[in-house]
Amino acid sequence: MIKELPEDLIVSVEGGSEELRELVYEATFFYLKLLLKRKIKNINIDIELVDNLRKKEKIFGDAITGETYKDIIIRLNNSKTNYQLVLLNLAHEMVHAKQYIRKELVDLNLTTAKWKGENIVHEDYHYFDHPWEIDATGRERGLYFRFISNGGYQKQKWVKEFPRWMEEYKIKP
Ligand SMILES: [Zn+2]
Repeated sequence: MIKELPEDLIVSVEGGSEELRELVYEATFFYLKLLLKRKIKNINIDIELVDNLRKKEKIFGDAITGETYKDIIIRLNNSKTNYQLVLLNLAHEMVHAKQYIRKELVDLNLTTAKWKGENIVHEDYHYFDHPWEIDATGRERGLYFRFISNGGYQKQKWVKEFPRWMEEYKIKP
């Protein structure tokens, strides 16, 4: 984890309620700090909370790169009540953002990606077995729980899942 984020990091959040936008904005900085090992300049993250993304495209979110591998565009399924799910989905997509920013994951074409130097053909793996999905799925809860703990959000009514033992064992972000 890096101590400070680069000052030129730009995050924008659109859509959803003001309350949720503020949480997503705060969580994006928090997640990135935990995900990056060193300062990287010129990172741009654009996040859009999209109404009915789940219904229309059958996804809770996605992350792609824009003009450079450090321009990240994230879409998240908007929810008026289930902020926990939005923040978990954000954590998942932020792991993918980290993979792009650190060039761990490079999309070569529609069928193939390069993962840490190795070519991976998508259809050779089940969705859950893609190495970038193992990374994202494996880290989403840890990022989210630490955000909740760090921000003191444990008692918010939208927090449905928070491991009490984290407090008992005084686990710090
Ligand atoms: Zn994923």
